[in-house]
Amino acid sequence: MSAVALQQDVEAGVERVRERIAGACERAGRDPASITLVAVSKGQPTEAIAAAREAGIRHFGENRIQEAVPKIEDATAAGVEATWHLVGHLQSNKAKAAANAFDVIHSVDSARLLRRLEAAAPAPRDVLLQVNVAAEPQKEGVAPDEVEGLVEAAGRTANLRLRGLMTIAPIAGDPGEVRPVFRSLRLLAERFQLPALSMGMTDDFEVAIEEGATLVRVGRAIFGERRS
Ligand SMILES: *Cc1c(COP(=O)(O)O)cnc(C)c1O
Repeated sequence: MSAVALQQDVEAGVERVRERIAGACERAGRDPASITLVAVSKGQPTEAIAAAREAGIRHFGENRIQEAVPKIEDATAAGVEATWHLVGHLQSNKAKAAANAFDVIHSVDSARLLRRLEAAAPAPRDVLLQVNVAAEPQKEGVAPDEVEGLVEAAGRTANLRLRGLMTIAPIAGDPGEVRPVFRSLRLLAERFQLPALSMGMTDDFEVAIEEGATLVRVGRAIFGERRS
């Protein structure tokens, strides 16, 4: 694809997603400015990231350290200024690389990982706890009743700022089926007075916004299908 065609494609994708966000906000009586669109650029080349930056995206999400670190370096060298979000699972032996490369880590799911990030973070980092609300056996994240312990553990760190909770909803035929999952995450966050709710992807971000999402993580609806 030529650079011009890529730019047009990504711009159209960003515009469509912004319209869908605006529609969901209207239904929910929310201000679109209260929602941060995180463009998930995994599987996309650095050129697509630069195109999205041109189209007004300021937040990017990646899910694997190995793929993300060189891309963030390339994008930064190419003049892309952005806030980088790690949205995928993080093993504690990669905490140092994650704390160096990312501004926000959405996938904290153990006290051990909190300790590793705290030790490695070169500057204060924003973190979210990933919660496996629907208790799916194959999915990462802590059980809802483990959140309290991790909120306390995060409170004992000096370098990590616990902002909120994150979840990945089950795959559903009808996005309405995931509404109770998003609602449960919101109620859990309210219990601990955590303001940030990272929930909603290409297939379900509108329902997530109706249920209170403050960060939506959208890949395919912006960039199209992933290339790798
Ligand atoms: C890939 C991914 C996304 C984006 O998924 P799309 O369906 O492409 O919008 C969001 N969150 C996480 C954790 C992901 O791994």
